[in-house]
Amino acid sequence: MTPIIVVKNLSVQFGNFLALDDINFKCYPGEFVSIVGKSGAGKSTFLNAIAGFIPYKGQIERPRNFGYVFQNYALFPWMTVAKNIEFGLSHLDKEARRKRVEEMLHKIGMLEFAKRYPNQLSGGQVQRVALARALAPDPQVLLMDEPYGALDHHTRERMQDWLLSIWQYTTKTILFVTHYIEEAIFLSDRIIVVDQKKFVAEVKVPFTRPRDSEVRFANELLTLKHQILDFMENN
Ligand code: ADP
Repeated sequence: MTPIIVVKNLSVQFGNFLALDDINFKCYPGEFVSIVGKSGAGKSTFLNAIAGFIPYKGQIERPRNFGYVFQNYALFPWMTVAKNIEFGLSHLDKEARRKRVEEMLHKIGMLEFAKRYPNQLSGGQVQRVALARALAPDPQVLLMDEPYGALDHHTRERMQDWLLSIWQYTTKTILFVTHYIEEAIFLSDRIIVVDQKKFVAEVKVPFTRPRDSEVRFANELLTLKHQILDFMENN
């Protein structure tokens, strides 16, 4: 299979500060890959380089059509939910935009929230709309930067279940940044561990799909978590 994202010898420098050092990475269509690491390790920088938001050295190949979901500032506060979802659809005519927005609202179970503003939504609802907005133009790749980091434990787990339920019916490739190791294990096919500017390890997640919540209590999850923590601590 041809990889959908290829990164070769990627380095990112902010002034004199080297944030990523000689990263090589590949991922394949439909893969769900998480990037974990301590705060400041370079996770967001990696995603931002893939998105082309920041200057970098090296080579990055990725599809032109990608979506991005941020932890904060996920939505434009001055736009309604419907207008936020419509944001990336300017290539479509008015009727096609209306249909697509309705389809996305239906998909996220929020049809009746179309006219609300982001400050009238819960944190979980904001992140649902953010995902709908990113998916509306039907991108091949979705880049997600700690999307559920600000949510309480219970809401975060519900959002993870929900994300998987949406993802399994799409063919999207997802790169997901998080510092919650359990979250990475529950969601991903593969986990990359970043530490001090480098990719220090790669772990395959053995759980089959579809995954149910029981995986969160599996012994193998704890074993894997220990293994990943070791990679993070011993570098
Ligand atoms: P993570 O997402 O793993 O928490 P980041 O990728 O955000 O880490 O940051 C990696 C390092 O790069 C940190 O030391 C951070 O302070 C630095 N950094 C990130 N963005 C910038 C920037 N725009 N200018 C200067 N330094 C930055």
